[in-house]
Amino acid sequence: MTIRDGLLDAIGHTPLIRLKRASEMTGCEILGKAEFLNPGQSVKDRAALGIIQDAIARKALQPGGVIVEGTAGNTGIGLALVAAPLGFRTVIVIPETQSQEKKDMLRLAGATLVEVPAVPYSNPNNYVKVSGRLAEALAKSEPNGAIWANQFDNVANRQAHMDTTGPEIWEQTGGKVHGFTCAVGTGGTLAGIAMALKARNPDVRIACADPMGAALYSYYTTGALHAEGSSITEGIGQGRITANLEGAPIDTAFQIPDEEALPIVFDLLEHEGLCLGGSSGVNVAGAIRLAKEMGPGHTIVTILCDYGTRYQSKLFNPDFLRGKNLPVPGWLERKGEVPN
Ligand code: PMP
Repeated sequence: MTIRDGLLDAIGHTPLIRLKRASEMTGCEILGKAEFLNPGQSVKDRAALGIIQDAIARKALQPGGVIVEGTAGNTGIGLALVAAPLGFRTVIVIPETQSQEKKDMLRLAGATLVEVPAVPYSNPNNYVKVSGRLAEALAKSEPNGAIWANQFDNVANRQAHMDTTGPEIWEQTGGKVHGFTCAVGTGGTLAGIAMALKARNPDVRIACADPMGAALYSYYTTGALHAEGSSITEGIGQGRITANLEGAPIDTAFQIPDEEALPIVFDLLEHEGLCLGGSSGVNVAGAIRLAKEMGPGHTIVTILCDYGTRYQSKLFNPDFLRGKNLPVPGWLERKGEVPN
């Protein structure tokens, strides 16, 4: 209960919340790191702060400079919020398929938004590649220069989790943590926490929880990158080994379909008051699978990545779910009806 010195100091130190139903179902202690309580309402505030602090330390980022990034939204929100008190500007390249709520928040946070069609990484017009080229151009034209945050291959991202999230989990559990799992967007969260926990206890079991449409489940179980299917979850689903994932001590992986992850998101809101985005559902589903694999009595930690209001028009919209042939929970259908 101390005073935090501005927004930068308010990032991190999030609570670890016991997930009641998942714990009871498995006989394990399943704990969710409440990253949605960060100022930008997502885990990506930590990476944004780490990347900006690293660029300042390397003198790559000059006062008044521009930070350019390609992001599914949350990193951009983190970068824009952290940039404000430090006097930087942000230019964010985002696939147009991402939720309207995230785009609105980015504009509110002061980012200049560049929307591009959602195309695979192999396409030169992929949002990550567009952001790299834009950063190069702005580095020449902007009076105070520009940098590319490059969250996928800039290891200042995973370093932030090695320095903060991982040690926080260790301290909050008093070192009593047997397993950790989460999904991968850039891999910064999974790799950084995995490295921090394994450095303290090499026996901590680390699992990648992969959505359909991503290639890491296949990579960590067979050695080959191969993807099939698709997912409505945002911010996760990787098809390559990013620099952040390189050398990460990952023991196993699970493939989590939306049909398994989304009912968990709906249940957490209905029964535990936790309003979360789809990637948190993949993570908790992964934690349940890891708990079942390891057996009762273990403590398993995962990440509650971002706040659910960011997805009201999609994940919590019955028409959107029906359009994707996904199950709609009864209580969501009944929302707004006056009980008699
Ligand atoms: N969940 C959400 C909602 C995200 O936006 C992200 C980041 N893209 C992740 C999970 C994955 O985090 P990381 O980039 O550290 O792998």
